[in-house]
Amino acid sequence: MTRRFASPPLYIQGPNLLPQCGAFLKRVGTCLAVIADATVEAIIREPLEQAAEESDLKLFFLRFNGECERGEVERLVSLCEGVDAVVGAGGGRAIDTAKLVGDCLGIPTISCPTLASTDAPVSRIAVINRPDGSVEEIRLLAHSPSLVLVDSQIIAGAPLRYLVAGMGDAMATWFEARACWHARGRTPFGETPTWAGISLARQCWENLRRHAREALSQAKRGVVGEALETVIETNILLSSLGFENGGLALAHAIHNGLTQIPSTYGALHGEKVAYGLLVQCVAEEAEETEEVLTLLLDLGLPVTLEDLGLKRNEDFLHRLVNHVFEKEANKLANEPVRLSPEGLLDALLSADALGRAAKGRGG
Ligand SMILES: [Zn+2]
Repeated sequence: MTRRFASPPLYIQGPNLLPQCGAFLKRVGTCLAVIADATVEAIIREPLEQAAEESDLKLFFLRFNGECERGEVERLVSLCEGVDAVVGAGGGRAIDTAKLVGDCLGIPTISCPTLASTDAPVSRIAVINRPDGSVEEIRLLAHSPSLVLVDSQIIAGAPLRYLVAGMGDAMATWFEARACWHARGRTPFGETPTWAGISLARQCWENLRRHAREALSQAKRGVVGEALETVIETNILLSSLGFENGGLALAHAIHNGLTQIPSTYGALHGEKVAYGLLVQCVAEEAEETEEVLTLLLDLGLPVTLEDLGLKRNEDFLHRLVNHVFEKEANKLANEPVRLSPEGLLDALLSADALGRAAKGRGG
């Protein structure tokens, strides 16, 4: 069975990185389209133009409409004639859109995240949504982004909720890769997990249990300290390499089930994954369950169905369980415990009960 490790060739992170990134951009392309919405463009335009001027690059700014959907990708592709690389700037949707545009045109992409909320900047997977925001397709792309530029000063200035959601997503990385390893499962690319992948995944959990609280405190104070830099790297780089090369399991299966329920549309990716992680821990009877629960609570991540905007309604829980068993068989197969629909329903309710009890104790 093949094992393969894939990653972007270059990842750079640091405060005030963008104005100095011209030489790195130039390695990838000299005529670049930058895809960003109006808010993000206001943040990154000036530093990127400074970098372009110093390195003699041409930049075109293309306004992103806010949703990564087929029509938007086609529209942007039609505007990219003569461009030799595409920069995606902002959150996961803008970056995934840029990756799809680059893939369509057969040219490299550059990720320039302004949030540390998802794995999109490093990943070679793109999530295509319908215009209403529900998931239409999860596309596996041929290549990882060619360059990832993470300006930690910009990330530190973003709303805290995104950083925290990214921690929820990154916390799950180790537990899912470990499950996949023990189940002799497959990565999202259908390959055997690598030692490299599982090692990076383990480091996600180690970094977060040690540094997540301090990083959040630094972000609240606007300090780009060592803990915050560590968590930014964990959320964006380690988590992505860990899941792509280590595998996904129940936490993301639950996430994908939750995305089918309109009342959870307000929850961020990492918030849904966080609850999925709690369910996975309960289902596996993981020895870290209590520590995971405490960290989720301390960070303000969802630990109950109500936190996700859901009622304890058996109907919807049955739909969620059915979705997981019908559509997420590959992730269920990455669990070392064999789950029945009744067992999963029990785990969903037990995780909710644990979360409610812990909240009761805390306040
Ligand atoms: Zn994720």
